[in-house]
Amino acid sequence: MRLLIIEDETRIAEVLRSALSRSGFAVDGVRLCGDARAALSVNPYDAVILDLGLPDGDGLTLLKEMRAHGNAVPVLVLTARDAVEDRVGGLDTGADDYLVKPFAMSEVIARIKALLRRPEGALGATLRSGNIAFDTIGRDVRIGEAVLVLPRRESAILEHLMRRAGRVVPKAVLEDKLYGIDDELGSNAIPVHVHHLRRKLMDRGATVEIHTVRGVGYLLVDGHA
Ligand code: CA
Repeated sequence: MRLLIIEDETRIAEVLRSALSRSGFAVDGVRLCGDARAALSVNPYDAVILDLGLPDGDGLTLLKEMRAHGNAVPVLVLTARDAVEDRVGGLDTGADDYLVKPFAMSEVIARIKALLRRPEGALGATLRSGNIAFDTIGRDVRIGEAVLVLPRRESAILEHLMRRAGRVVPKAVLEDKLYGIDDELGSNAIPVHVHHLRRKLMDRGATVEIHTVRGVGYLLVDGHA
């Protein structure tokens, strides 16, 4: 598990880094929004710890940017006690959890582990939406009790939509996901895969539906909710 700590206070960053390393995480640390953007663009982190007051910008702005770009990595926000009230509202912008400074290290570790266990988190072994269960390690998809065999591109699309269930996944994000698999990705490739996937889900009685958000992307919703 690889974590990114975005924190400008050296002492806090060092304490976090050493405690999380001892807990078995690979930890990268940056102190500027600019460096965080660079790190996030090249490394697939499993979780991010984000301080809100950074020397070159606001952590919440960075978080909004990440979510706008379709980065669904779990984020634990750190915030100063006197800023909690104004900040909590802003956490809808996409934080998964937050901690008020000063905090106990045991609390940080517990929260990070909890984030990684969440279905939408990177570690979620089995994703569930409606009557679909997706074992992300065995790549096994079930609708109710029945196994659904999917080509890997359709499987990758379904996984990504399930990780972000209820939220729109931009088409460009899915293209990024699939580029490594299919080098000859045409502009129509994603819609075609989604079309096939949608039909298979319908034929097998899945209770979730894939909606197209025209000009933006796709959204997995529980049709029976
Ligand atoms: Ca700070």
